[in-house]
Amino acid sequence: MHKLILAFILAIISIQVFAADYDKILTRLNEVAKRPHTALFSLGKNDQGMDIVGVMIGDSSTATIKHLVVGTHHGNERAAAEVPFLFADQVLTNYDSSVLYYVIPVLNITGYNANRRQETGSDNQTHDSNRDYEDACMTKQDWNLKSTHLIADFMDKEDVVSAVSVHGYVGSFTFPFGMYADNFKTLDNALLVDWAKKAAKINGYTTGTHGDIVYPAEGSFEDYAYFKHGIWSFLMEIRSTTTDLKKDALSLVEFFKNSPRERSKHVGQKVDCVSRILSYKGISRP
Ligand SMILES: [Zn+2]
Repeated sequence: MHKLILAFILAIISIQVFAADYDKILTRLNEVAKRPHTALFSLGKNDQGMDIVGVMIGDSSTATIKHLVVGTHHGNERAAAEVPFLFADQVLTNYDSSVLYYVIPVLNITGYNANRRQETGSDNQTHDSNRDYEDACMTKQDWNLKSTHLIADFMDKEDVVSAVSVHGYVGSFTFPFGMYADNFKTLDNALLVDWAKKAAKINGYTTGTHGDIVYPAEGSFEDYAYFKHGIWSFLMEIRSTTTDLKKDALSLVEFFKNSPRERSKHVGQKVDCVSRILSYKGISRP
């Protein structure tokens, strides 16, 4: 009995310790928002009723294009929350009134507070937020989490042209497709290959499709944004041994500088889907 009470108390203490993590993110966002050309915004409330907060950099009256950086779909990939802040700093230091950026350091608040990959849904179960989007190849239960649905609606409604989600820790900068397909090349492949290489010159990351370089996965943010909306969506996996995250931020700056002015015209293109079981049996996917 005493042990149980002790365990309970320890659990409460640990929850309180971890709960401070997202509060620190909010404090830092408030600091960023003291600088000119910034404003805080909320995507809306997650499954626990907490606002998912980001900072908008730019002015919609002068901007002619909008982009998005979203960090921390996976709460244990801590550097994924840091790079968006460094990116915001770079953008503000070299301010360009023709571009508007939405920067969200942490999408998965419960995962971040618990230093855990998954996010807690309204069902009190944990879900992998980067498997929660609609998938072109697999029928599954989508949108278990409010956070994913909110960002999906937001980027479409706000006419985001290019987006990067930040993860850890492969050391890669990749682009669609990454679903279970025979061929990961999209109709935009040539453009994506060149574009990724230019950005990755700065941090030396490996480039290519998600499926080729990282691993195939169903229901990822990047495939969804590109396939469904034509948003140019890339995935930066911060390298585990990186000591200079500023290079990753500068790589993102270079990436957005080279963005097309409009979304891809190849929305809903044909995908050579394959069965996950048949094609990837026995391959463990981190
Ligand atoms: Zn991840």
